Amino acid sequence: MTEAVQTSSSFTPRVFSGIQPSGDLHLGNYLGAMKRFVDMQETGIETVYCMVDMHAITVWQDPEKLRHATRELCAGFIAAGIDPAKSILFNQSQVPEHAQLAWIFNCVARMGWMQRMTQWKDKAGKNAQNASLGLFAYPALMAADILIYHATHVPVGEDQKQHLELTRDIATKFNHDYGVDFFPITEPVIEGAATRVMSFRDGSKKMSKSDPSDASRINMTDDADAIAKKIRKAKTDPEGLPSDAEGLEGRPEARNLVNIYAALADTSVDAVLKDVGGKQFSEFKPILSELAVEKLAPISGEMARLMQDTSEIDKILDHGAERARAIASPILKKTYEIVGMVGA
Ligand code: ATP
Ligand code: MG
Repeated sequence: MTEAVQTSSSFTPRVFSGIQPSGDLHLGNYLGAMKRFVDMQETGIETVYCMVDMHAITVWQDPEKLRHATRELCAGFIAAGIDPAKSILFNQSQVPEHAQLAWIFNCVARMGWMQRMTQWKDKAGKNAQNASLGLFAYPALMAADILIYHATHVPVGEDQKQHLELTRDIATKFNHDYGVDFFPITEPVIEGAATRVMSFRDGSKKMSKSDPSDASRINMTDDADAIAKKIRKAKTDPEGLPSDAEGLEGRPEARNLVNIYAALADTSVDAVLKDVGGKQFSEFKPILSELAVEKLAPISGEMARLMQDTSEIDKILDHGAERARAIASPILKKTYEIVGMVGA
């Protein structure tokens, strides 16, 4: 069985990515990640998408809310255009090979590498002594999520770039230490006009599920009124909109709203500014709201419809986990062999 596993440096292209069920899916997740996932699915490359519940519990999650968020995230994937017949769609904890490979990677990654991770520093904050060990080890589990499928491409938002670099470091060190060419050196795919959607309340912080302020983000489940209200209240500066991208220099809030518009409209920032350059935010914000509602309402409507039958969602997740394990299991087995673990 292990012969089937590729050990040369020419890996078959395969896409992997994940989203945490750590709260409500938001516009940043949609534009920076999910919309890209759908694009990659349509290229015909094998795509593997995961609800990373084991990452979510690196910070406290109420069990009932976690269960709900995992199912709702699955509904979000499908509503946004992920087809469970085309992509492998599942939740991480159902595929134990992720955790098993993560342990090996905990023994490959170095403390110094992990301590440099900005997500660790941001999330642990001043209270690092009281943060969970899982939060610190998070990037090693993420490397395992990717490499257990020998994934060659990982679409993510800008904030995950450093974790992808760490994944490459882990693969390189593993291959070097054991004298093999077993794990691919994965490429991050960070594309589109909205690779880093910023908080509506603070242009220096990214939009996040875990931000305590609901006004900081547009949730995929927000209705038209909530979307319009949040955009109306979004922080901006007193200037009008410039006529080209250069004019957004040093104006993070203005840049954010223009980026969002461009990503929603599937166009470039320059093309947007050609149309709306010279307008005041009081004129631009309603136009942006209208576009956001037009694009998001069908997705949130479909999410709500799918959530009426959670047993169907659970079936999709079970089936996806089975398909995922069929890839992950021989790769783990071969890894154990390389490392020198005894067993069939
Ligand atoms: P949390 O606050 O719990 O970390 P999150 O909002 O950062 O949640 P994740 O589940 O950690 O969401 O990330 C899922 C995907 O969404 C990743 O690819 C990440 O890069 C992307 N992403 C998250 N926030 C943004 C954002 N503000 N803009 C663009 N992409 C984003
Ligand atoms: Mg995150």
